[in-house]
Amino acid sequence: MAASVPVSEIKSDKRENRTAAHSHIKGLGLQVSDGRANTAGGGFIGQAAAREACGLVVDLVKAKKMSGRAVLLAGGPGTGKTALALAVSQELGTRVPFCPIVGSEIYSAEVKKTEALMENFRRAIGLRVKETKEVYEGEVTELTPEEAENPLGGYGRTISHLLITLKSTKGTKKLRLDPSIYEAIQKERVRLGDVIYVEANTGAVKRVGRSDAYATEFDLEAEEYVPIPKGDVHKKKEIVQDVTLHDLDVANARPQGGQDIMSMMGQLMKPKKTEITEKLRSEINKVVNKYIDQGVADLVPGVLFIDEVHMLDLEAFTFLNRALESPLSPLVILASNRGVTHIRGGSNLPASAHGIPSDLLARLLIIPTHPYSPPEIKTIITTRARTEGLTISPPALDRVSQLGERVSLRYALQLLAPANVLAKVNGREAGTIDVDDISECEDLFLDARRSAQHLSSTNGYIA
Ligand code: ATP
Repeated sequence: MAASVPVSEIKSDKRENRTAAHSHIKGLGLQVSDGRANTAGGGFIGQAAAREACGLVVDLVKAKKMSGRAVLLAGGPGTGKTALALAVSQELGTRVPFCPIVGSEIYSAEVKKTEALMENFRRAIGLRVKETKEVYEGEVTELTPEEAENPLGGYGRTISHLLITLKSTKGTKKLRLDPSIYEAIQKERVRLGDVIYVEANTGAVKRVGRSDAYATEFDLEAEEYVPIPKGDVHKKKEIVQDVTLHDLDVANARPQGGQDIMSMMGQLMKPKKTEITEKLRSEINKVVNKYIDQGVADLVPGVLFIDEVHMLDLEAFTFLNRALESPLSPLVILASNRGVTHIRGGSNLPASAHGIPSDLLARLLIIPTHPYSPPEIKTIITTRARTEGLTISPPALDRVSQLGERVSLRYALQLLAPANVLAKVNGREAGTIDVDDISECEDLFLDARRSAQHLSSTNGYIA
């Protein structure tokens, strides 16, 4: 899986947590020859028709035939709508931005609705910048901090230099690096056996992965293995940097204060969102377009996924309609589990399918998702347990699967992690989840229906 060109990413923020529940999803799992879905593929089980339809959408996007249009995934909770949208972004290419939001997120006291939507549109559009840089690249075979007396006196010692030996196929090189690079090495958690590159001019360090010479079964799960880099340790290398338009907005909106503590505190206190103006965005678009024209950068339109789309209001829908027309638009995938319902902010309008106004409905490709069969539920739960590194006894698996059928797939999947904690607390061998752990979890964590029943039966206590 080693990428030939290492990519240094600027992480948008904690949004990755939102996709953690889908880490087993690796794509739509369609056959290359005819785009048909096997029963299982890409981490998906079942939902074949929806996966095939999503595959067609991917083809349309690649053929640039989706502009002005969007997709709606319509189906009950836990039928894989988010998973499908994520898989579409994966099928569009590697490191294509995926920005998942929930309709209600755009309502905040600080930021206008349309501003919040615009921000998420820009999170879903990537820019891939290519630069040739002078780097040292190789496998780390020595990593020794050199200590010096603390210049301020006292007992402590400080790191004065860092000795690193890098090995590549053509030889090795010993580097004596200054303390700032030591910090970068610590931040990237570089260990012996890692393959890294250090930018010669800036000292920026990037961990590319773990050399296969150091592979252990345990590590294999978590890490990407790369061969020892070919050629000289010191060389010119094409570096690819992935950023989103939102990253650029934020970086350019930062107050240009000094490095002293007071102005840094000032930057922390200021909500950065209010500083991104329409003018700044259009300036950034100009620069971005220039880079694209010069061939320095490529635009990477990603996927903006808006779950519970009925939570958007008329004003937001108007914005969406307009934004879909823009040449800088990601693929917009909406999701809904509602039937006919009223449109927020449109009390004088008749109820509408999914609470979406008819002008937007007319632009949508609607893909239904269906409830899962009991064997499908069982296989999805097994896949998730394996991905989370959990072991579960066959009777416990049956029990969780029944919950998946009776309550919801979401609920069943959510019980796995706490059941694993209980299995350990209960001293089960190898932490294998047993039926009793599942029952205990069911008692501890209610599903929505039981929770509502509990409230109505204990009404006296709830003021
Ligand atoms: P909601 O309406 O509640 O937002 P959803 O339709 O978006 O639900 P997901 O969040 O995609 O449903 O699915 C719930 C969980 O089940 C996720 O962990 C997802 O990855 C997994 N999952 C759903 N469908 C499949 C499938 N067909 N194959 C494998 N895993 C699936």
